[in-house]
Amino acid sequence: VEIRSDEPVLVIGLGRFGASTAGQLDRQDREVLVVDTNPELVQKWADRVTHAVQADARSMEALEQIGADEFQIAVVATGASIEASVLIAANLVDLGVPQIWAKAISHSHGKILERIGVNHVIYPEREAGERVAHLLSGSMLDFI
Ligand code: ATP
Repeated sequence: VEIRSDEPVLVIGLGRFGASTAGQLDRQDREVLVVDTNPELVQKWADRVTHAVQADARSMEALEQIGADEFQIAVVATGASIEASVLIAANLVDLGVPQIWAKAISHSHGKILERIGVNHVIYPEREAGERVAHLLSGSMLDFI
């Protein structure tokens, strides 16, 4: 599937990971719909991003209501509850969203997400650690 770089993005969960994803996309003038169960967080983001909706993404009806099926790209940024993350990812797969990115908190979690049909599994801490190791062993050392 070819994805245009101006395609709107659905971001589910406004924790540290989801907030930085949505914030950065917004700074790039990308159309973003953020979803969170927490009304205060949604309120806080309402002025900032294109659309902010309070909804429980575990519910298929809620996702249908917000038009999640029309998105080509979705980011599952919840993680604390593996059950919720897996359910949300499965809902997005069932809705036919072709590009799904999801954060995993463990290898097993990531394996399940892949099995469900998530295209890109992200391990934030592992990837940040690898980046640090890369920076420490690469030519960047010359500049420190
Ligand atoms: P981070 O490490 O990125 O801060 P986390 O892994 O601790 O986040 P969670 O605590 O699961 O992730 O949740 C991140 C955000 O997702 C919270 O703001 C939470 O309210 C929201 N969230 C959790 N479950 C759902 C859900 N079912 N639908 C929508 N939003 C949700």
